[in-house]
Amino acid sequence: MESVQKTITYLKTLLRNYQYQYYVINEPEIPDVEYDRLMETLRKLETENPNLLTQDSPTQCVGGASLSGIFKQVNHKIPMLSLDTVSDENGYLAFHQRLKKRLNLSRDITLCCELKLDGLAVSLLYINGSLVRASTRGDGLIGEDITANIRTIGIIPKYLIGNNIPAYLEVRGEVFMSHSGFKKINQAAYRDGNKIFSNPRNAASGSLRNLDPCITAKRPLTFMCYGLGFFKGRSMPCSHIACLQYFKAWGLPVSDYTRLCYSSEEVIKFYHNTEINRPFFGFDIDGIVIKVDDLELQRKIGSSAHAPRWAVAFKFLAQEAITRLNNVEFQVGRTGVITPVAQLEPIRIAGVLVSRATLHNMYEIDRLGLKIGDNVVIRRAGDVIPQIISVVKSNINSNLVLKSITVPKKCPGCGSEIKFISGEAATRCTGGLSCPAQRKSAIRHFTSRKALNINGIGKTIIDQLVDKGYINNPADLFMLTIDQLTSLEGIGQKSAQNIIDALSISKKTTFTRFIYALGISKIGLVTAENLASHFVTLNSLLSADLNTLSSVRGIGRAAAHYLKEFLNDVNNREIIRVLVVEVGIYW
Ligand code: NAD
Repeated sequence: MESVQKTITYLKTLLRNYQYQYYVINEPEIPDVEYDRLMETLRKLETENPNLLTQDSPTQCVGGASLSGIFKQVNHKIPMLSLDTVSDENGYLAFHQRLKKRLNLSRDITLCCELKLDGLAVSLLYINGSLVRASTRGDGLIGEDITANIRTIGIIPKYLIGNNIPAYLEVRGEVFMSHSGFKKINQAAYRDGNKIFSNPRNAASGSLRNLDPCITAKRPLTFMCYGLGFFKGRSMPCSHIACLQYFKAWGLPVSDYTRLCYSSEEVIKFYHNTEINRPFFGFDIDGIVIKVDDLELQRKIGSSAHAPRWAVAFKFLAQEAITRLNNVEFQVGRTGVITPVAQLEPIRIAGVLVSRATLHNMYEIDRLGLKIGDNVVIRRAGDVIPQIISVVKSNINSNLVLKSITVPKKCPGCGSEIKFISGEAATRCTGGLSCPAQRKSAIRHFTSRKALNINGIGKTIIDQLVDKGYINNPADLFMLTIDQLTSLEGIGQKSAQNIIDALSISKKTTFTRFIYALGISKIGLVTAENLASHFVTLNSLLSADLNTLSSVRGIGRAAAHYLKEFLNDVNNREIIRVLVVEVGIYW
């Protein structure tokens, strides 16, 4: 028992410290997954040992005090609470049952389902329809006065419009940042050598609680409201959704996604639909929030010191997890760029087993301060390739010897020299098409869907064809024989014939696809399209000089340079000649 007491005390101190870092100074020391894990451990210990539960435990409070002396303090007339969370259907059904029991109801309760926006809660006070004060949630009872900053957010009305507005009206909602806004400010921060924000929530919080409203004004913040606070001077509707509709009529931004549900089945359906739509909102959500719609019933059910009992957050599976970096492998792409790829201790994230993550380039490794053996936070969102977000410093096993990551001196594919291209933060193999790794990637690119779209030739077939020496460049594909193809593993007579047919069909293409298929550095589909419509014929493209190339829309100096270098290369010109003259590719 004494050791449980000690663990509880230790966890409480640790979590309070992390809460301060996260909510007050906006410098989270550990990733959210790690914080949630520690909080869950504490909650479990307190449930098993109720006599050790105290009211000041982080499990019982709303995290986040004010930055004392910096922003003016604001007392919330009605506490701004957190939300209890559930993470699966059983958890949700148990909440639903608890509601019915508390209300002693046998009929279903009308529930309002909303997006759980991942930003920070603010309270807006309108007196006689004009915005007079805005504040953060703080510790739930006292927040920070951030009126000057909130006034810089265009979407938040300074004056409400319409009729029947209570003389004193407090509206609550979330300030957050869209994915595009987040990308824009981080790109600018990277360019100017400023602090990079780890996620849109962190960026929104840092921007909103900035001491200089001029800086806040430059940040792409947005807002949606989701609740009524204190009001007087006029009555308000008695349902939550009707209040939201009033807010909307008064000019406040409200989500159109909100729905009323009349049974637990409908709520669960809403949850799954929202999860499917999640990648398309353009901003982060981490679940849905389910609220009893009837405000009188809400009052009846009441709240704990931490959260209302009439609402719950039904969270999505975490998109982040912690695992160990076992090694870093260097891969050679079609243009010779060498990319570090993290080999991870396999871990399940949102239902998918992840064992590799992209590291982009060596700058990224330096930025993260990454070493082999580190515990790292991995993020896997939708179809995006898993990424390493950060290193868990506090979690490093002190007995483990960490190993620095160094770029290989020679190309791992062919042993050629490696060149560092400073303007692009990239490392390249100098072996050109003599490098089998580059050859394979170049041929794969040539056959890909957006290029010549040759069906039936995937990675494994191309790897075998190059390894057996049957093909060295894209033009060789068209010289393949049935015998060569059937000598490959897993290719029978029929598949071989299908490949030959697909190659034949692919000869009719477009000029854009042909340029793209050549796999020239920095020439994507859009730039290939611009080149095709500018030059119209292959001969005029081949004879263009550097100035003409860089005058084409979307072609910068670097792309023009790569293009010229590629087109001047004797081997490349011969491959293009064979493809057009001998193979007979046409458009
Ligand atoms: P929460 O963010 O999970 O839920 C409560 C909040 O949800 C509300 O305050 C409100 O801002 C927001 N919300 C969004 N949409 C809403 C809607 N439609 N209706 C009502 N509210 C809505 O809880 P929390 O206590 O604010 O924060 C906990 C989170 O913060 C956890 O994910 C935790 O990992 C993270 N955290 C991390 C660290 C760290 O060190 N990394 C420290 C503290 C907290």
